[in-house]
Amino acid sequence: MLASEATPLVKVGGLGDVVGALPVGMRALGHDVRVALPHYNFVSESPSVKSILSVKWGRSQVESSCTETLVQGTPYLLIGGRPVASSGSVYGENAAIDALKFVFFSLATLHHVRAMGFQPDVVHVHDAHPGAALRWLQENANEDPFWHATGRVLTIHNLVYQYNEAADALALGGINPAVDDIVPTLARSGLLALAIRASDRINAVSPTYAKEILTPEHGAGLHGLLSTRSGSLSGILNGVHYDEWDPAKDVMLAKNYTMDTLSDREDNKYALQQEVGLRIGQGPLLGVVSRLDHQKGLDLLVQVLPALLRRSESALVLLGSGDGSIQAELQQLAVEFPDRVALSFRFDERLARRIYAGADMLLVPSRYEPCGLVQMIALRYGAVPLVRATGGLRDTVKDYDVDPAAGNGFVFNAFNPEALSSALERALHRFEDQSLWRGLQLRGMELEFSWTAAGRAYEALYMQAMIDRSGQDAG
Ligand code: ADP
Repeated sequence: MLASEATPLVKVGGLGDVVGALPVGMRALGHDVRVALPHYNFVSESPSVKSILSVKWGRSQVESSCTETLVQGTPYLLIGGRPVASSGSVYGENAAIDALKFVFFSLATLHHVRAMGFQPDVVHVHDAHPGAALRWLQENANEDPFWHATGRVLTIHNLVYQYNEAADALALGGINPAVDDIVPTLARSGLLALAIRASDRINAVSPTYAKEILTPEHGAGLHGLLSTRSGSLSGILNGVHYDEWDPAKDVMLAKNYTMDTLSDREDNKYALQQEVGLRIGQGPLLGVVSRLDHQKGLDLLVQVLPALLRRSESALVLLGSGDGSIQAELQQLAVEFPDRVALSFRFDERLARRIYAGADMLLVPSRYEPCGLVQMIALRYGAVPLVRATGGLRDTVKDYDVDPAAGNGFVFNAFNPEALSSALERALHRFEDQSLWRGLQLRGMELEFSWTAAGRAYEALYMQAMIDRSGQDAG
């Protein structure tokens, strides 16, 4: 697997969680999975050097190192070299510069695994960043017995990040842009578009998202291209790594609890209110853990919460990092309700966990959401999710009022303040009945979005990719 992030070494968002957990699930099924990551200069492992070679990069040769470190039994290959080392963050402001790092990383990885004698059955690329690896295989594997039979799999975690500015990076790596009309002009040097063209099998990270990306609304300009691949496109819901996300064992919580000791969860609410400076009380505590990005729809909260806070005893605790203009918008809430709105603008694993364990509800009003992990983690921690019906949110959260027998949260459809407001009203009304609420929490905690099921689905996808490839040979 090639990716730009994987927990615990590098995490920016859910992609890191997924790439960190999937190999554990696949190894449990008996597969020899190795994960390649760019060796960012802030990754301070002390790994052992496995291979050093030079990569043709424009007119020069650039040295690349591959060092290996074991994480929970999975070998991680950290791929270094000048284009990677010069980058101080995983994702910078300039996609063309990031593309240099990611294309170099992709090509160097393929060279290193060959040098190390590791011949994978499948090369699995996560999102656009390592997409050049699939394009390189498409252009070179036919004449190369080492890669000839290797299946090519692409997982789309987020279609919006396409790296269409990769022309210079591709030229340096000796990789051709797409020339066929089926690829939109703007995306012909795009790492994601090239990977979509070059893959045998493609999956999106939830069944609903796999359908949504074929539509103009969610296709981000690539729906036409994806439609040509719809026979090879499926959806596999992400899992949650329940060893890592377990309120019974989570050392960062004020108090551990299980379904049997759910009343102990109250201590976490109290500790959270104290920690973030909220008024202490029994009123409903709404939580948000999110990247601050247009995608996440937090602008709806800014429109809806003032009225809600005025007419109820609710409070909001929000943890988010990212876009400064979204921070500024949210800040207005804290100014008006200083002891009922607590905002923390940073990346903070500990506080995230304490919010899952202490908030009564977790709000996820996303414009789109390929899968979403926060709502699944919230369910496990007994925070009832309130979400917009899109992508993986639709696949994982069922509205209690629509289906009292199976509902595990609250769901709204239209992306507008009225729809969010009415879902919040319904949820707050239900919260008043504490025994009903407790039942909702327990139902959520019981659910299992496990990597075992997802791992089996990926296993089938890999097999299919290998069969496709051998079919190509025959053809
Ligand atoms: P996305 O990948 O779009 O960011 P997901 O819901 O798939 O959204 O995954 C988000 C992951 O990142 C979760 O593990 C969540 O706990 C974590 N996360 C998001 N923002 C923060 C933050 N500011 N601090 C700590 N963890 C965060």
